[in-house]
Amino acid sequence: MKRKVLATALIAALPYISHAAEWGYGEENGPDHWGHFAEVCASGKNQSPVDIQNAAASDLDDLELSYHGQVVDILNNGHTLQGGVEGHNVLTIDDTEFELKQFHFHTPSENLINNQSYPLEAHFVHADQNGNLAVVAVMYEVDDKNNQVAQLSQSLPTAGETTALDQPFAVKSMLPEFDGYYRFSGSLTTPPCSEGVRWLVLNNSQHLSQEQADALHQVMGDNNRPVQDIYARQILLSQ
Ligand SMILES: [Zn+2]
Repeated sequence: MKRKVLATALIAALPYISHAAEWGYGEENGPDHWGHFAEVCASGKNQSPVDIQNAAASDLDDLELSYHGQVVDILNNGHTLQGGVEGHNVLTIDDTEFELKQFHFHTPSENLINNQSYPLEAHFVHADQNGNLAVVAVMYEVDDKNNQVAQLSQSLPTAGETTALDQPFAVKSMLPEFDGYYRFSGSLTTPPCSEGVRWLVLNNSQHLSQEQADALHQVMGDNNRPVQDIYARQILLSQ
């Protein structure tokens, strides 16, 4: 009797066995399949990334980025290269403090600006004390070599590994000179695709060499979710 119940349970589970066990960016487990991992990835109306277009000039708060800490290591989690930080690194927005948890990269960029893709996008992921998220995004254009990317790339870890940096450097040095930002509501760009994330995309870009962009792309592959429909959202641009 017990055996029969087990067999029925297995048959019921069969449709799910054909799905990959872990999300990724491949044919079997890529963005089109992420609804299997979290429903909102497929059904959400506030999903990220987006193509930033028709932004409305707006009287937004200043972006207060108080980054006083250091980048200390880099992790390859199999989906991205993620920088580990120490010290006091705080974004203040909406009268709320959001602490920097980590930053990571996408090759090519996930968000587009006026339909333009960039070779690299960095996401600085912050959380307030209630677990609300705010992401500051920085685009990179190909130009001169980037010193911070050079330090991070000295010995890039393989999947599942973390490399401590020989020389930690200031988190702040990763930011471009500030020249305004776009703001909109969005989500995590990977499963579980949770919504309610404050997105703050800096208007000014960073730069890196073609060689550096190629080296990062070689490690991460195409780890960019395609742009999602904007639906009823408004995109604001600070004045
Ligand atoms: Zn990201």
